Amino acid sequence: CGIFAAVSETSVTSALVGGLRALSYRGYDSSGLVIAQRTGLQRRRAPGKLDALSSLLKEHPLEGFVGIAHTRWATHGAPSESNAHPHMTPKVAVVHNGIIENYSALKTDLESDGYRFNSETDSECIPLLITRNLDKGLSPEAALREAVATLEGSFAIAVIFASEPNTVYAARLGSPLVIGQGAAGHFISSDSIALASVARNLCLLEDGDVAKVSVDGLVITTTHGETTHREMKALQVSE
Ligand code: GLU
Repeated sequence: CGIFAAVSETSVTSALVGGLRALSYRGYDSSGLVIAQRTGLQRRRAPGKLDALSSLLKEHPLEGFVGIAHTRWATHGAPSESNAHPHMTPKVAVVHNGIIENYSALKTDLESDGYRFNSETDSECIPLLITRNLDKGLSPEAALREAVATLEGSFAIAVIFASEPNTVYAARLGSPLVIGQGAAGHFISSDSIALASVARNLCLLEDGDVAKVSVDGLVITTTHGETTHREMKALQVSE
């Protein structure tokens, strides 16, 4: 029920866990994160409290400059480690808030093409759709756009590609997403509260927006692929 992602000059692991903690008031039953490393996308997930993910990270540390994280409130599939986000293939990892209404048709279609599901969630169709598009030869951004165009329902997603380990993409339709700009980098969150400790400025994504957040900065495009501008405002921190 919460998304937090980061592209930073310093390791993002503690910012990701801190972001999830700040979003935990929204309720959750499991949590997880993926960090991009030179060796590929690395994942940690745990059912239950966020402390379970923190303990797992103490036992099996994971550091890096780019990552996506999630607290889940199950709608499709029981609360469990295998249903916890991020969902991924070796090529792409995705965190998702919301519901994909047409997931069962998408699942049947993907399975008939030989793509295998490892969870009972509606969300897993997103990384598999993107992977199928990559396998057809599309670029990461085109693969993401094409996948998003086939989704029905409501979603906010953050996406990280193994082949583009310095970038996080975010997209929304019906579920909120905020981008924060801070001294160390850019952060993506389901709400602005979780950005207070890391960002100075923020902008709200609008329905249909696709944001590309990288070490080079932030580019926001509309559904049609046109670059657009969303106003950056100073973050109001309440006393
Ligand atoms: N529908 C997705 C699931 O059940 C996402 C739930 C959420 O927004 O946390 O995994």
